[in-house]
Amino acid sequence: MQSAVVFCGANTGSNSIYARAAAELGRQMAERRIQAVYGAGKVGLMGVFADAALQAGGEVLGVIPFFLRKKEVCHEGLTKLYVVDSMHERKIKMAQLSEAVIVLPGGYGTMDEVFEMLTLAQLGQGRHPVGLLNINGFYGPLIAQLDTMAAEGFLKPAHRELLLVADDITTLLDRLESFQAPPKEGKWIKL
Ligand code: AMP
Repeated sequence: MQSAVVFCGANTGSNSIYARAAAELGRQMAERRIQAVYGAGKVGLMGVFADAALQAGGEVLGVIPFFLRKKEVCHEGLTKLYVVDSMHERKIKMAQLSEAVIVLPGGYGTMDEVFEMLTLAQLGQGRHPVGLLNINGFYGPLIAQLDTMAAEGFLKPAHRELLLVADDITTLLDRLESFQAPPKEGKWIKL
């Protein structure tokens, strides 16, 4: 894995464990020489992650829509900054620049990004492995919901498995680095 896009909150959350995890991910990606791609924010977990990766000597590419490129929220010290026209274009660019997806805690923006990648993958439009960091049990209810979707016939088991989950960063990166794409499977459970 030479590059990964990181989706995470534009807030730091109420427990400092989340910021510590974001910094640790930045350091580990730099040490493993994995180029980081992210939404170019300097706020929240996004900023913590980018600063830690840069400080550890990593390469960090940011992709930000024009309207968000305001002094307060855009990180101006990145290895490279791409300014695009819309949130939609940003997701396309981030996908083009990366080989895998890493998801830290976040809110709507993070969910939008991760579910778009999973939706494309199940339709055979993208092949990024998606790794979810379930730090502090943050994503437990979401994982349970995905299991319910599979149990109730809305999600194929093969598509449920497109999401790799780990509760620590080393395990998550190891799993993404050794990921072998499963054979493609159709989206529709019954036609
Ligand atoms: P959220 O999970 O709602 O905090 O949104 C975080 C995600 O949405 C990030 O992965 C970004 O791609 C995008 N995003 C939200 N707010 C910002 C911001 N202030 N600057 C840059 N990107 C942002």
